Amino acid sequence: MARYTNASCRLCRRESQKLFLKGERCYSVKCALEKRNYPPGQHGQGRKKLSDYGLQLREKQKAKRFYGLLETQFRNIFEKASRRKGITGENLLIMLETRMDNVVFRMGFASSRKEARQLVTHGHFLVNGKKLDIPSAELKPGSIVKVKEKSQNSPKFQEIKEMSITVPSWISVTPEKLEGAVVALPAREEIDTPVAEHLIVELYSK
Ligand code: SF4
Repeated sequence: MARYTNASCRLCRRESQKLFLKGERCYSVKCALEKRNYPPGQHGQGRKKLSDYGLQLREKQKAKRFYGLLETQFRNIFEKASRRKGITGENLLIMLETRMDNVVFRMGFASSRKEARQLVTHGHFLVNGKKLDIPSAELKPGSIVKVKEKSQNSPKFQEIKEMSITVPSWISVTPEKLEGAVVALPAREEIDTPVAEHLIVELYSK
C-alpha cells in the first residue's frame, strides 16, 4: 500500500501546528516546530495571506496528515460520512476517531498513530476476542481491544502495563490487563483534533 515517506516534521511545519506524528519526540524540546515554526522550503517565511480555497485546502491537509491518511483514503471516508445521517463534518471526525489504528493510539498502546498502524498490521491485537489486523476497521461502542496473549510479554507492552494512561471519555483502558474498550461514539466536543471540519466540507462540496 502507498504511504507517505518524507520527513514527518515537515508536515507539522507546513501546517504550523503540532500533528504529533513522532511519538515522544513531539512532547520534547527536540520537536522541530519548537525550533522552526514556519513552513519548510525557500519561501517558507514569506508566505502570503491565504484565500478561502487555500484555508479550506490547508484544513483538509491538516486533518489528513493528523490521522496519517493518503488523499484517496481520506476522500473515501468523507464520502461515507456524507452519506450518513447527521452533520457531515462531525460524522467525518467520528469515523476518523473510531478507526482501529486511532483507537489503539488513543488507548496509549502506541506512541503515535503511525506506530499504532504498524502494531495493528502485525497482528498484535484482538477485538472482541478475534484477531483484527486492519488499521482502517471502524470500531463500534462495546468493542473490546486487547493485546494478544503472545504479544503481551514484549518489553514494549510490559512497559505499558506500568503506565498511567489518560484517555478521552469515550474510551476506557486498563493498562495492567493491556485491554481497553470503546464505551461510546465520541461527541464532537470530546474530539481534540485541531481541525475546522466545516472547511473540509466546503472544500469537497465545490
Ligand atoms: Fe510534529 Fe512531532 Fe515533528 Fe514536532 S516532533 S514537528 S509534533 S512530528
